[in-house]
Amino acid sequence: MLFNYLQWLGVIFFMSNKLILILNCGSSSIKFSVFGFVDMKKYLFGVVEFFSFQHVHIQWQCNGAKKCKILDSLNSLEEILDFVIDAILMKELKILGELFAVGHRIVHGGPHFIESVIIDANVLRGIKSAISFAPLHNPFHLIGIKKIFAKFPNLLHKSVAVFDTAFHQSIPEESYLYPLPYFLYKKYGIRRYGAHGISHSYVLQESTKFLSKSRDSLNIITCHLGNGSSISAIRNGRCVDTSMGLTPLEGLVMGTRCGDIDPSIVFYLYEHLNMSLQDIKKIFTEQSGLLGLSGGISHDCRDIEKNYFNVSSSSHRAINVFCYRLSKYIGAYSVLMEGKLDALVFTGGIGENSVLIRKLTLQKVKFLNFILDDHLNSSIRYGKSGIITTSSSCPVIVIPTNEDLVIAKDVVNLLK
Ligand code: AMP
Repeated sequence: MLFNYLQWLGVIFFMSNKLILILNCGSSSIKFSVFGFVDMKKYLFGVVEFFSFQHVHIQWQCNGAKKCKILDSLNSLEEILDFVIDAILMKELKILGELFAVGHRIVHGGPHFIESVIIDANVLRGIKSAISFAPLHNPFHLIGIKKIFAKFPNLLHKSVAVFDTAFHQSIPEESYLYPLPYFLYKKYGIRRYGAHGISHSYVLQESTKFLSKSRDSLNIITCHLGNGSSISAIRNGRCVDTSMGLTPLEGLVMGTRCGDIDPSIVFYLYEHLNMSLQDIKKIFTEQSGLLGLSGGISHDCRDIEKNYFNVSSSSHRAINVFCYRLSKYIGAYSVLMEGKLDALVFTGGIGENSVLIRKLTLQKVKFLNFILDDHLNSSIRYGKSGIITTSSSCPVIVIPTNEDLVIAKDVVNLLK
């Protein structure tokens, strides 16, 4: 009797548990998660990493249980997606509930998208037309969108695109224009678009709780520091400047990307060192940043930090350049706050966890009245959030980012 009752409860839960799939398809990784449409609970998440189709590593976690699979005989992104959908999602969904909608993370929306949208033929064309600005991302997003349409035809009008560039569409002309011939912007859309907007907008929203202020009254500087890094100046709740540009190569020092450099370096490498454009691109995107500065030790901040206190080491040099450039941006963006900076926020793998990078950076911008509490700085990491400065300081807040949740919420807002 009790068993029957519990079984019925299970069936009712399954039928009523509408779910949202979040998909982030990239050139070397795919991230996926499943949220409840009503409770916004994350039931499943996973990541596929592949440096080649012959070495595909999949990890996922469903209702607390961790699982892992290594595949060595696939031939394309489509085949990886087939496996993820057929062997993982379909199986787990049998227990979790019914897929009701999907949210796709799109790195570059070009000039077309200022907010999240339901995907139709026009949206697909818009994402396609921004491929030249994000060749490592947008083509793979399109493959993901088409694959979901093919596997779940019922999601045709329930697929939402959430753009990493949308949050930055509020930056004014003086910030998004490059000092290049104007027709390059007018005719070809060459301007600054920014990236990581989903993360910056999430930590902006979370900051309201720490500062007890409404979003549209907040003046904050948000630092997303991870493998890719960017910083945004947010005034009255709207982004007014950000460090990434036409592509996610501009701005801060990153894991393997160079960030800001003199464009003449391209000509020098080409004309004097006989490098091809392909070689130069590879150096700027895959061999620079922390990896390049450390002399090839690692792109991973954890590896480089280990040797920081050896002052003659390449690790010391790499971290110093990283923090110096970050502090210059914080100083510059403080000018945009019109005399009232409410907080500085750290997020991303490095921002959330690196006690050293936070400390070194704040030491360089003391004039903004950041007074670090060393104990709080050491203890707020590994998923914790909180203020790491003293009560008399301008607050510095650590907030673990949650881009999937932003995407899930946008899906609900557009479809409810
Ligand atoms: P993300 O791209 O946001 O996943 O961040 C990846 C970066 O975060 C890598 O450079 C990691 O080294 C860095 N990271 C993760 N955990 C730590 C940690 N405990 N200390 C320093 N850096 C970390």
